[in-house]
Amino acid sequence: YMDGNLSALGASDMNMPNSSFNDSGYSGATTEERNKYEFKVVLLGDAAVGKTSLLKRYIKNEYNEEYQCSLGVEFECKTIPLDQNSVAEVKIWDTCGEEKYRAMTKLYYRDSDGILLLFDLTSQSSFDNLKNWINDIQNTVVINKMSIILVGSKADLEKKVSPEEVNSFVANYNFLSYVEISSKTGMNIELVFDKILREMVERNNREDDPEEGANEVKNK
Ligand code: GDP
Ligand code: MG
Repeated sequence: YMDGNLSALGASDMNMPNSSFNDSGYSGATTEERNKYEFKVVLLGDAAVGKTSLLKRYIKNEYNEEYQCSLGVEFECKTIPLDQNSVAEVKIWDTCGEEKYRAMTKLYYRDSDGILLLFDLTSQSSFDNLKNWINDIQNTVVINKMSIILVGSKADLEKKVSPEEVNSFVANYNFLSYVEISSKTGMNIELVFDKILREMVERNNREDDPEEGANEVKNK
């Protein structure tokens, strides 16, 4: 059904004018005529690991050196064509990593389809804190009902967290896949969203009645 043509979708979408934020970039069939998947993805991880930078790079292709402390929670929408007959509307929620907002943050991901869990490759404490994040996640959602990708951020800088440590962590929590990114250079930004989208589509198709399969419209 997917025909493996997900790979180019992020890059092509980003280069189309008006393609971000809403459906206005689409020609041809309206979204009503297509199969429409709706997914919610939440960005998690300690303060300053680069969650807001990742979202800005992906949605607006912008990058900002200065750190702006996100107070509330914000989301951006992106509509991504999957093939001729289907689109995915992905809502990506940015959160605040601060400890005091942890309980509130849970409310945002408990009904999500995917999580990008970030740590900063130059910050050992952001890595050490991952086990607390995973603890929170395991207490909040059914882990194998969602797609969770561990994201090592700021890969353009010299790493302080050892690759061995990261590898054994990923092996230990085998529900995680792992991607290193840089929002500064753009490295693997499209890839990480393509990957989580692919996982969510596959999971959604597996859960659907095989008779109905691709015709299913998932509403949340
Ligand atoms: P958040 O608190 O998780 O939302 O983190 P931000 O996105 O606000 O980023 C925190 C700081 O790290 C900012 O000063 C960013 O410019 C910086 N930063 C984010 N991503 C990268 C990256 O890929 N490379 C480098 N060198 N710095 C980054
Ligand atoms: Mg932020």
